[in-house]
Amino acid sequence: MYKRVFLLLLFITAFTFIVQPVSAQAGGPVYIVQPGDTLSFIAARFNLAVNDLIAANPSIDPNFLSQGQELVIPGLEGVTGVLETEVIAFGDTLRSLSRRMQVPDDQLKKLNRLVSPTELYVGVGLIVPVQEGQNILTARVTPAYGESLLELAIKQGSDPWSLAAINKLGGSWDTLPGDVLYSPTEGSGGNATGLPSAFLSASIEPLPMVQGGTEVLQIQTQEGVSVSGILVDMPLHFFPANGEQVALQGVYALLEPGVYPLLIEATLTDGSKQAFEQMVLVTSGDYLSEDIPLNDPSTLDPAVTEPELRQIAAITKPSTPARYWNGIFTIPAVYPDCFTSRYGTRRIYKVINSDIEIPGFHTGLDFCGGEGLQIFAPAPGKVVFAAPLTVRGNATIIDHGWGVYSGFWHQSEILVNVGDTVEQGQVVGLVGGTGRVTGPHLHWEVWVNGIQVNPLDWLNQAYP
Ligand SMILES: [Zn+2]
Repeated sequence: MYKRVFLLLLFITAFTFIVQPVSAQAGGPVYIVQPGDTLSFIAARFNLAVNDLIAANPSIDPNFLSQGQELVIPGLEGVTGVLETEVIAFGDTLRSLSRRMQVPDDQLKKLNRLVSPTELYVGVGLIVPVQEGQNILTARVTPAYGESLLELAIKQGSDPWSLAAINKLGGSWDTLPGDVLYSPTEGSGGNATGLPSAFLSASIEPLPMVQGGTEVLQIQTQEGVSVSGILVDMPLHFFPANGEQVALQGVYALLEPGVYPLLIEATLTDGSKQAFEQMVLVTSGDYLSEDIPLNDPSTLDPAVTEPELRQIAAITKPSTPARYWNGIFTIPAVYPDCFTSRYGTRRIYKVINSDIEIPGFHTGLDFCGGEGLQIFAPAPGKVVFAAPLTVRGNATIIDHGWGVYSGFWHQSEILVNVGDTVEQGQVVGLVGGTGRVTGPHLHWEVWVNGIQVNPLDWLNQAYP
């Protein structure tokens, strides 16, 4: 009897001691003040009134918030630990994040007030509760078609019960081919994301995407895996470089800002496929807008402009596996920093004495300087078009490889032939006023996988 009471007392005492240090957070989970934080910013982040935040933290001085200070966040029933920010990586979904961080997905939704999966785009910061001493799981496994959890667990040196519990699988332990599961064993290397296991790493830059920008996708896979994908609605073309698969993709200048899908698919050596889809954000390029009065609307007659645009689009469509360029592009004009019109400018052609408005945008970069000035190849490549066109005048198109092309319009003279290989800086033609122009000038445009992009990006940075 005494023994029992003693044990009970011992138990209570032990319990009290264990509970004691935790009682500091009795009011809720803790947020650690980050550089630049203010009380109102933190309150807004957790959807609280500032006064409620102050009331939950009576010991803090609201006027002197210091970095590293711990704040109790009230009103988050059932949530414990330290509230940290986890930036959504390429390949993350709510499910993979929930599995990796071992937090129920409804708690993640509630904490971040998520109402739609489109809010989970790459680069967005989510609040995630992390428990003390918790290990973030990094080993990813993807079941093959028809593979059972038991088979998968044996391969991982784990057991099906642990895998089911970690990954919140139902009683049947059904796995889905291509699903990303986390295993308690050692990490498989690469960065810890929600990517299927054939992917070692994946990145897309820059983020957010910008209208008229050039996106670089770099993917590392397990040996022998081939990669394909779709960004917005454009099929991606991947080429091997430095142990990675690289794809370049232009972002259409008139694409409405918002979130768009990115789909990446890996084909394994046995022919099976693993894929993931991710939302990415497209932001405005902040391009200027100008109205252009037009006397004669026939100059924009689609019967003339459409076939010519289709012709250019067909020439710039193939993705040549060779990459001819290396490093930053050089300026193709004599006057390097002088532009009469930049890429992206919205152009609304207003037909005089009518209500007709034709929207468009400037697809390239116009340089200062007129008739007879030399035009230089901005990068090495192969001439794939050199002939007169109705709208663009004397036109030359150079293939730089990997789906990247340069176009030069309105020339007075073309100095290269189709099939020529050109070096960076080589004179390819002379400036003129041929085609539909108001005066002689060089118009240079850059196409990246079927889309005209901002050429200035190619003059300012080296693409891989
Ligand atoms: Zn132009």
